[in-house]
Amino acid sequence: MPKSDQASEEQGRAALRAALFVHRRAPLSRLLARRGLGPYRGYGELLEAIERLADRGAQVTLIGRSIRGEPLLAVHLGAASLAAARGEKQAAGLLTPAAQGGRSVANGVSLRPLGSTPDGTPDADGSRAPGGADDPAPGDAVLAQLAERAERASLRPSTGAGSRERVRTTVILSGIHPLEWIGIEAHLALLDRLATQDLGGRSILAVPIVNPDGLLRVEMNLRAGRHRYVRGNARGVDLNRNFDAGWYERGLIQRFIGLLFSPGSRPASEPEVEAIAHALSSRRIDRALSLHSAGGAVLYPPAHSLWPVADAAEHRAFAQRVARAADRRPYRAMSYVRFAWGVRKAGLEIDWLHDRHGALSLLVECSRGKLGLRPSRLVEPFAWHNPRRLDDATPPLVDALLPFVKGARA
Ligand SMILES: [Zn+2]
Repeated sequence: MPKSDQASEEQGRAALRAALFVHRRAPLSRLLARRGLGPYRGYGELLEAIERLADRGAQVTLIGRSIRGEPLLAVHLGAASLAAARGEKQAAGLLTPAAQGGRSVANGVSLRPLGSTPDGTPDADGSRAPGGADDPAPGDAVLAQLAERAERASLRPSTGAGSRERVRTTVILSGIHPLEWIGIEAHLALLDRLATQDLGGRSILAVPIVNPDGLLRVEMNLRAGRHRYVRGNARGVDLNRNFDAGWYERGLIQRFIGLLFSPGSRPASEPEVEAIAHALSSRRIDRALSLHSAGGAVLYPPAHSLWPVADAAEHRAFAQRVARAADRRPYRAMSYVRFAWGVRKAGLEIDWLHDRHGALSLLVECSRGKLGLRPSRLVEPFAWHNPRRLDDATPPLVDALLPFVKGARA
């Protein structure tokens, strides 16, 4: 395994462990379920889910830090993941079984069933505390040291000019808008499924929590019972207006509107967006998916122009296919600018992924934000974006999205 890959996996795991240590709290899901808001997990619980993916062989790397210093974590599956490199070394006899953590390698992804320890025995509760059976429980000082050392090594994952560049990559993003938690839950459910599947030489690069600062702010509000609308990062910038796509200096009126939906001071001015741009810079990306909520729609570029993209027909075919399968009543499928009533929006991730990388790009507005008649839901912005019945909404979504992210033809 290239040294830089090893370093980036080490720093990813160290950053994940350190964040888990800081954000371990009583489960948010129980609190929200009691209030009729659905069983959504808190930031710490979501990090645990990412750690479980890593325990099963996914590579987790640190691609940057948010404004408040939270780790921006990428989950890698498939051909270009570190697990594949491990498999090659295993064949060459360069790694001892102990060094592989008892993992078996299949389809380029090393797997261990969810809720099992490295020797295959199930965990008592299907989860695993940081510093479980395969690594000694580190104290705070050791944790901090680990994180620091790994980060000093390099914040940048390998941009190696080798095979990785030619590997077709699917990018998956969620948690850009911090109230839209169903996107993150659907994303993690999708990664759980992908981790058990043959990806046919494709690589998945997933960033489940693009805006951790925003997410933590929403969680704080939820725990305190405050009904607040939160859309931006820690500086109040709408990260989905900050990508370098159709970005332009704004006039007075747009600047005024920008106070509500700030696009930032320049393209990729925000560390969260810059980190994604950097992590993707050397990849060959042909599929991209960004999960939002709750418009019940599958949207494709453009957002910043009224002119259809050159590959509009291919986008439409995929969008319609996903829209039909996502729910019993199909989602809508159309270009973003049509969805926005012809109002052009600059700085969106799907435009950037399409224009810059040439990827077929879909933005899915998960679920339809059905509020019902409970007053507690009507005044709670979290309920506007996330259905109460999470477990009904995600399985069909995951089924609908799998063929697209795995590179199937339209
Ligand atoms: Zn959104």
